[in-house]
Amino acid sequence: MKPQPSPLAYVPFVSVENMMRLTNAIGPETLMTELAGYIEEDFKRWPEFDKTPRVASHSRDGVIELMPTADATNYGFKYVNGHPKNMREGYQTVTAFGVLSSVANGYPVLLTEMTVLTALRTAATSALVGKYLAPKGASVMAMIGNGAQCEFQALAFRALCGITTLRLYDIDASATDKAAANLVAQGFDVVKCGSAMEAVEGAHIITTCTADKQYATILTDNLVGAGVHINAIGGDCPGKTELHRDILLRSSIFVEYPPQTRIEGEIQQLDEDHAVTELWQVMRGEAPGRTDARQITLFDSVGFAIEDFSALRYIHDRIAGSDYFTKLDMLADPDDPRDLFGMVMRAA
Ligand code: NAD
Repeated sequence: MKPQPSPLAYVPFVSVENMMRLTNAIGPETLMTELAGYIEEDFKRWPEFDKTPRVASHSRDGVIELMPTADATNYGFKYVNGHPKNMREGYQTVTAFGVLSSVANGYPVLLTEMTVLTALRTAATSALVGKYLAPKGASVMAMIGNGAQCEFQALAFRALCGITTLRLYDIDASATDKAAANLVAQGFDVVKCGSAMEAVEGAHIITTCTADKQYATILTDNLVGAGVHINAIGGDCPGKTELHRDILLRSSIFVEYPPQTRIEGEIQQLDEDHAVTELWQVMRGEAPGRTDARQITLFDSVGFAIEDFSALRYIHDRIAGSDYFTKLDMLADPDDPRDLFGMVMRAA
C-alpha cells in the first residue's frame, strides 16, 4: 500500500514501546526478512530517488545527522546521532526518529522512533547484501563489537544467509557476555573469543560493529583469509574506520552511495577514484557480485537514507489497521485553511 495524503487530522506515531510490541508480534527474523524485501525493492529502483550524502553536524564527542530522500510519492528523513562515549554514560551510542510524508501535499503520514528500527534496518541491509556476496554455504560469522547492533545482525544473517555459529569478540568482555546470553537464548551456537584473531578463525563472514571515534584497526590484513565476506558497519564517519587499509586493497568493495561512502566509509582511506561497485547495480544484475570463491568481498556500510525510507514505508504498511500506533495532534486543521489565526482564537 502506498502512503497517500492523510485525510486525518492526526499523524500516526510509533513509540519505542509499540515498535517493540510490533517486533515481538511479527518476530525479529520475519520482520527483518520482510524489511529486507522492501530495501531490495527500493534499491532496484535506485534512479527514481532524490539522493544526497547525509547532512552531518560534527562535534568533539559525536555527530548528529539528517538523512533525507524522496521518490515521486513519498518523502522520508531520519534524525540520528552517533556518540561512542554515550554507552559509558548509560546512553545509546545511536538514537533516532524519522518521518514519512506525502509528496502530493507535504503532510506527514508517519512519525516513528527509529533507534530500534535503525538496528533492524541496518541488520536487514547487511544480511541482504550478504545474500548477494557471502561465500556459498556460509554458516559461521565472526562478530567483532558486541554492542547494541550485534544481536540484530546475527538474527538477520541467520534468516537471510543461514548463519548458525557466532564467534564473538569485544574489548569489553561484559558486552560479549551480554550478547552471548541473548544469542544462546535465540538458539545460536556461540563461541566467546579473547581476541579478534581468535574470532575470525574459520569464519565465512566477518562483521565489524565497533564504535570508536578514531581510525581504529579492528582487523589487520593478516587476519583476513581468501574467500571471506566482510560486513563492516562500524566505520561510518570521517575519521572513524575499522579496517587496515591493506585489507581494502585486496578486497572487492561494495557500497551504498559512493558520494557519502567516500566521506564516511572505510574507503576514505583510499584514493578518490578507487573502484567500488554500487550495490543497487548488483541487485539489478547490472554489475557482478561475488565472482570467485577466493575473492574477498567487503560491504563498506555507512547506512544510507533509502534504507530508512524503506523502513518507514514498511512500518507505515505494517501498522495500517492495527493498534501499534497512537494518534499525534501534529497537524493544524482549521475548517477554513486560511483561518489559522481564527482557529487559535476560538480555542481560547
Ligand atoms: P555500541 O556502543 O552499543 O557497541 C559498540 C561496541 O564496540 C562496544 O561494546 C565496544 O566495547 C566495542 N568496541 C569498541 N572498540 C572495539 C575494539 N577495538 N574491538 C572490539 N570491540 C570494540 O554501538 P552500536 O550501536 O552497536 O554501533 C556500533 C557501530 O555501528 C557504531 O560505530 C555505529 O555508528 C555504527 N552503526 C552503523 C550503521 C550503518 O548503517 N552502517 C548503523 C548503526 C550503527
